[in-house]
Amino acid sequence: MIRVSNLKAAYGKIEALHGISFHVEKGEIVTLIGANGAGKSTTLKALMRLVPPEAPTVTGGDITFDGASILGMPAHRIVSDIRMTLAPEGRRIFGNLTVMENLQLASWSRKGESTDKEIQHVFELFPRLAERARQRSDTLSGGEQQMLAVGRALMTKCSVLLLDEPSMGLAPLIMYDMFRTLKRLNAEGLTIIVVEQNAHLALKVADRGYVLDTGEIVAEGPAEELLHRPEIKAAYLGG
Ligand code: ATP
Repeated sequence: MIRVSNLKAAYGKIEALHGISFHVEKGEIVTLIGANGAGKSTTLKALMRLVPPEAPTVTGGDITFDGASILGMPAHRIVSDIRMTLAPEGRRIFGNLTVMENLQLASWSRKGESTDKEIQHVFELFPRLAERARQRSDTLSGGEQQMLAVGRALMTKCSVLLLDEPSMGLAPLIMYDMFRTLKRLNAEGLTIIVVEQNAHLALKVADRGYVLDTGEIVAEGPAEELLHRPEIKAAYLGG
């Protein structure tokens, strides 16, 4: 479905990705793990075709979706035509809007279609959001804000969801709930690429994983196998 080949990306003159290759098949959960600064978020931003200065410039290689290059496509078409959406690191919800307003705003790419079904789906996945539909988003807890960030991404009716550190700042129970929900969305047909610091949790739910280290992929394989590789355990799973 998605094929990244020898992708190079830079911020100004500094290269952050030195030619990485990976693929994601329809219906998979694929995780990118690695230490701080390895290039995980950079990879997601490059996939979404976000623009500098926050996102990198792609300086080499290719990204294809169902066989066609998407390098020339602007981010809004990645969302509306490719149906790939990013739930970014740090959530980036609109704090001065209510939960419902955030969800409604996210359906801009749907051009006037009814969004009732998706709102219902989001509220069914995250009942706490339903209870707080009219609450200002900046008064939600961290976990609720993360639910809203994922819910908002789902409002685009995406078929591929990119998640950047969904467990960041969450209490363990809420973190497990979030990953359980991701598993459920995957069972409903959603393809997921998840970037995570919590490598153990990510590998537990993913089908396959890639390990990034300073802009290069240094290991890859079925998630279950990566979980048990001694060098991965030592470097990323706390021994
Ligand atoms: P973390 O887990 O800490 O979020 P990461 O693996 O997601 O790390 P990236 O955010 O992709 O890492 O960063 C990769 C490299 O690119 C780092 O050296 C970082 O300093 C640099 N970088 C990231 N964003 C920018 C930017 N907007 N401008 C300049 N350099 C950047």
